[in-house]
Amino acid sequence: MPANKKLLVLPGDGIGPEVMGQVGRMVEWFGDRRALKFDLEEELVGGAAIDVHGVPVTDKTVDTATNADAVLLGAVGGAKWDSLPFEQKPERGLLRLRKDLGLYANLRPAICFDALVDASSLKPEVVSGLDIMILRELTGGVYFGSPRGIETLPDGTRRGVNTQVYTTPEIHRVARVGFELARKRGNKVCSVEKANVMESGVLWREEVQKLHDAEYQDVELSHMYADNCAMQLVRNPKQFDVIVTDNLFGDMLSDEAAMLTGSLGMLPSASLGDPDETGRRKALYEPVHGSAPDIAGQGIANPIACLLSFAMMLRYSLDLGGEADLVEGAVRNVLSGGKRTGDIAKPGEATVSTGEMGTAVLDELERLGA
Ligand code: NAD
Repeated sequence: MPANKKLLVLPGDGIGPEVMGQVGRMVEWFGDRRALKFDLEEELVGGAAIDVHGVPVTDKTVDTATNADAVLLGAVGGAKWDSLPFEQKPERGLLRLRKDLGLYANLRPAICFDALVDASSLKPEVVSGLDIMILRELTGGVYFGSPRGIETLPDGTRRGVNTQVYTTPEIHRVARVGFELARKRGNKVCSVEKANVMESGVLWREEVQKLHDAEYQDVELSHMYADNCAMQLVRNPKQFDVIVTDNLFGDMLSDEAAMLTGSLGMLPSASLGDPDETGRRKALYEPVHGSAPDIAGQGIANPIACLLSFAMMLRYSLDLGGEADLVEGAVRNVLSGGKRTGDIAKPGEATVSTGEMGTAVLDELERLGA
């Protein structure tokens, strides 16, 4: 019998616990019906942790996260904690987890479910069948480089400085994730930078190419300037498979790609770190959306982003692609069958609650996979 997988569940604030509740039901289903057993630990994070422990994440939780096979997070934040100093805000809990676990590769899939093709602002033929992956470097680049700061010059002029900086290991480790992802998908990587105007972009391009030539010649590699990529994403997004890019460009391009698919309530994400000696990467999975205080406590949040984050965990942390396909297939069929939470419903269309959407996905899982 393989050992149970250790999962740390961090529901967080607002709709976080509501959507995570549906993941809990799915975990039970996998245990009962697919003999896939998990050892679950649940801890507080964000505002919920501040209220009880006085900090947005405790050392013990970070320790548990470090030793887990994967971490699943709901969402953090809310008005109650908005007036706290920056260093004590709920979001710092999430940032600390990313930093302490060394999660440098942020995966944001943009998948357009056929049933939701009308939710995109682009023409149906442009987005129908879309399935791309934006891979963003998460712990380096201009958001972290030094020197940084705002200074006042002798003549009274103020000057703001940030520094874009990447080293070869930083570029190689994220590019490696990109090539490995591509091998499990459409086998194409597009590396994105601004080598035409930035030295860090020249280095990025050269090093990605070097790694490709040395170890990943079986994967098709292309290079693109970030401004062109932004344009191509709305012109013809289906030309891409995996896009790998730095922290700044990835921040923007992943949001742009996400919106091709319609709603925030549908978007999962993963953040991965280095593999250990067994090949297991530290990993945190979370929906892209926040704690949605405007609808929290009403039982109407869309749980699909959180359920699809669980599917990503099955695929990338547990190497259970077939089980992940099952969850994604169940979601696809439920949407095709017309079930909608409020965020993805057309005006006047009937809507279901968070729990009803969870039940519909579980019923479909049962039909597809039991
Ligand atoms: P948000 O993502 O929480 O909400 C934006 C809009 O989308 C809201 O109208 C909300 O009702 C809707 N929405 C989001 N998720 C939904 C879902 N699953 N189902 C249905 N509707 C959904 O972003 P915001 O309003 O800018 O931020 C609210 C709080 O969340 C803030 O405190 C912010 O700091 C925090 N936040 C946290 C994370 C995170 O935990 N990773 C990410 C973004 C924002």
